[in-house]
Amino acid sequence: MTILDGKKVSNDIKNEIKQQVDKMKDKGEKVPHLAAVIVGNDGASLTYVGSKVRACERVGFESTMVRMSNTTSEIELLDKIEELNQNDDIDGFIIQLPLPPQINTQKVLMAVDPSKDVDGFHPENFGKMALDMSTFIPATPFGILELMERYGVETKGKHTVVIGRSHIVGRPMSILMGRKGFPGNSTVTLTHSHTKNITQITSQADIIISALGVPNFLKAEMVKDGAVIVDVGITRVPDENSPKGYKITGDVDFENVSKKASYITPVPGGVGPMTIAMLLKNTLLAREQRM
Ligand code: NAP
Repeated sequence: MTILDGKKVSNDIKNEIKQQVDKMKDKGEKVPHLAAVIVGNDGASLTYVGSKVRACERVGFESTMVRMSNTTSEIELLDKIEELNQNDDIDGFIIQLPLPPQINTQKVLMAVDPSKDVDGFHPENFGKMALDMSTFIPATPFGILELMERYGVETKGKHTVVIGRSHIVGRPMSILMGRKGFPGNSTVTLTHSHTKNITQITSQADIIISALGVPNFLKAEMVKDGAVIVDVGITRVPDENSPKGYKITGDVDFENVSKKASYITPVPGGVGPMTIAMLLKNTLLAREQRM
C-alpha cells in the first residue's frame, strides 16, 4: 500500500511555483496577486482562507484578504466583485463558500470575470473543462488529478466510482476522470444520496473518490482488494484530547480500508494541501494569461 502524500507533493508544487515567481521577480515582472473574499465569521472558512493567504506568502505571491460582515447584502458583494474584476493589479480571486443565506451563490459566482476565476466555478470555465478545453480546473479535482499523475496511478480503462456530486468536487471529478487523456479514460459511476446499493457499486471500483463529508462512511467491506482510495472528506469531529477540541476526519475508515488499498490518501495530509497548491497553480496561470 502506498500513501498518496498530498503534503509532500503540495510542497514540491509550491517549490516549483516559487522558482517561477523568483524568475519573474528577477526579470522585474509583476508577481501573481490572489484576492480572497470572505463573508461572515465561519471558523472553518476563516481557517481555509488563512491557509490560502499563508500559501501565497510562501511562494512569493501578493495576496489580499477582503473581509465582509455576515450581514453583507448581495448587491454589496456584487459591487465588491465588480471592483475586483476591474482591478488590474488582481490576477485572480476567490469567493470563499458557503455564503450567508441572503446571498444567491450562483449569482455571485456568475459575476466573477472568468479570466480571474481561479476556483474554476464560473459556468464558462466549467463548460470549457467539460469540453476538454484549456481552463481553470476547480482546485480540489485538479489536485486529485495531479496527485494521481505524480504517483503514476493508472486510470485508463479503470472503473472509477465518485461518491458525492457537488459542483466543486464530485461533479467535476466525474467529468475529469472520464475525459480522454491521463489521468482520465476511466469508466465513471457518479453516486449520491439517492444511489441504491452503494456497497455493490463501490466494491466493484478500481478507484474510489469519496467526497460526501460523512466521517468513516467508506468501510473495508465496501472496497475491493487493490483499490485506489481518494478521501476528500473534511469533517470536524469533537475530540477532548485535542487542544482545539476537535479533530479532522475523512470519509474513509482509514485504519481498515488502508489494509486493502493499493494507494490511499490520508486525512489530514492528502487532498487538502493539494487543493491549496492547485489554487496557487491556477493563480500563476491567470497571471501568465494576463501578460
Ligand atoms: P456537499 O456539497 O456537502 O455534498 C455532499 C454530496 O454527498 C452530495 O452530492 C450528497 O448527495 C452526497 N451524499 C450525502 N450522503 C450520501 C450518502 N449516504 N451516500 C452517497 N452520497 C451521499 O459536498 P462537497 O462540498 O463536495 O464536500 C464533501 C466533503 O469534502 C466535505 O467533507 C467537505 O468538507 C470536503 N471538501 C474537502 C476539500 C479538500 O480540499 N480536501 C474541498 C472541498 C470539500 P445529494 O447530492 O443527493 O445530496
